[in-house]
Amino acid sequence: MQRFAIIGHPLKHSFSPLIHNRAFADLNMDAHYEKIEIAPEEFEREVERLKNSDIVGFNITIPYKERIIPFVDQLSAEAVKIGALNTVKKVGDQWHGFNTDWIGFLRPLEKFSSSIKRCLLLGAGGAARGVFFALLRLPELQHIVISNRTRRRAEELVNQFRPFGQKTIYVSGFEYLLNMNERFDLIVNTTSVGMSGHNQTILLEPERVAHSKTVVYDLIYNPLKTILLKRAEERGLTTINGLPMLIYQAEEAFKIWTGRGFAEKTRTYLFDELPGLIE
Ligand code: NAP
Repeated sequence: MQRFAIIGHPLKHSFSPLIHNRAFADLNMDAHYEKIEIAPEEFEREVERLKNSDIVGFNITIPYKERIIPFVDQLSAEAVKIGALNTVKKVGDQWHGFNTDWIGFLRPLEKFSSSIKRCLLLGAGGAARGVFFALLRLPELQHIVISNRTRRRAEELVNQFRPFGQKTIYVSGFEYLLNMNERFDLIVNTTSVGMSGHNQTILLEPERVAHSKTVVYDLIYNPLKTILLKRAEERGLTTINGLPMLIYQAEEAFKIWTGRGFAEKTRTYLFDELPGLIE
């Protein structure tokens, strides 16, 4: 049996074991995926132990997506640029690191991509880096405003991805949002504002910066409908929550490990059943 895992802290609410074990079962694969919770002070020792075990691939989640980098032998080009890993695979006696979060983010946007020219990106944390990398790949996107509570963090993020060619990038703190007089085709929330257990609030009213065809995308999947998405829905806007991203980043990791995508019935199960486990 092949063994896979997710490492992070805390991991109690992770859906990754359910997703991957379902995918293995639906493809009749002799494999198992488990949670390995690692306390920050034990990180180095536990990662070395993991690498010397019979595990052949693992995911990395908060707060270790950057800290894992020195422990792998080779990084994909995307992982180098983003500066964070969520997937590691054993190749011979080496460990290779990847980032699939950005692909997971892009998949639900594919059908809108030709009409996305202007984007407002809220947040500049770990998730925002993969999102920014993905946004730069949208062919029609010309203009991004990235706004973060800590403006300096947004500046650092943007500097990491230069040059931008024809695209224009504007960095701001949240005070700019209050008086902003722009309309966007895509609004993305990558902050934890609105997440269950955090402030159940909203950073800005979407209608202030949206037009009738704006897509409002919140990376949060717990709750499935943040206040931001509820308000957007009330205004008749298209909304996307974080669940498709979670499922698609998992499928991309699965492809890296096994060379196969999820079975159709796995996808159907995940999109139909996971929401019921969250709400
Ligand atoms: P992170 O690195 O800790 O970044 C948190 C971000 O939220 C920063 O921009 C931070 O601003 C901002 N923030 C936090 N509290 C705030 C507040 N009270 N007011 C304004 N801004 C605040 O976290 P992350 O890894 O990027 O994750 C962010 C969110 O994305 C989480 O909700 C996570 O669940 C979600 N996520 C979803 C997926 C998915 O697959 N759907 C994948 C990854 C992440 P400062 O820089 O000013 O602190």
